[in-house]
Amino acid sequence: MRTAIVWEAALYHQKILVEGIPLQTMDRYRQNRIDKPEAGGILLGYRKGPYLHVVQVTVPQLTDQRRRYRFDRAAHHHQQIALEQWRVSEMTMDYLGEWHTHPEINPSPSGMDINEWTKITKRQTKPMVFMILGLTGTIWLGLSVNHELIECTTMASEGI
Ligand SMILES: [Zn+2]
Repeated sequence: MRTAIVWEAALYHQKILVEGIPLQTMDRYRQNRIDKPEAGGILLGYRKGPYLHVVQVTVPQLTDQRRRYRFDRAAHHHQQIALEQWRVSEMTMDYLGEWHTHPEINPSPSGMDINEWTKITKRQTKPMVFMILGLTGTIWLGLSVNHELIECTTMASEGI
């Protein structure tokens, strides 16, 4: 069982807690074999005080375009899942951000990623989380606050 990980954007007093179950789900899509294309989805969870708490993720859907160096999420299906979860959670579970994989050991956002995220954050007033999962254990995590993208650092693993 994977334990939760906490990231921090200290200057902004924001913490991002990602639970073990969504981490395990995303781990399955790491491109650790040459035939695995990029994967991605959206992050769902709660906003509680300084915490963005990721409890669930969507996984690639049949309508997504997946290649080794490219992932285009077809918004429709992921949004349907988000809407369904929002209803099931009695309107508390929120859209917190996006994740995808990169075939790199130390992943970092591409120019295209930054463009896509800028489009998303233009429509959002709340902080948003963006995650990129590398080939092995690494995760790049950024938080967008007031249209600024901040790379966050890991605080600790919490066995919750
Ligand atoms: Zn990317």
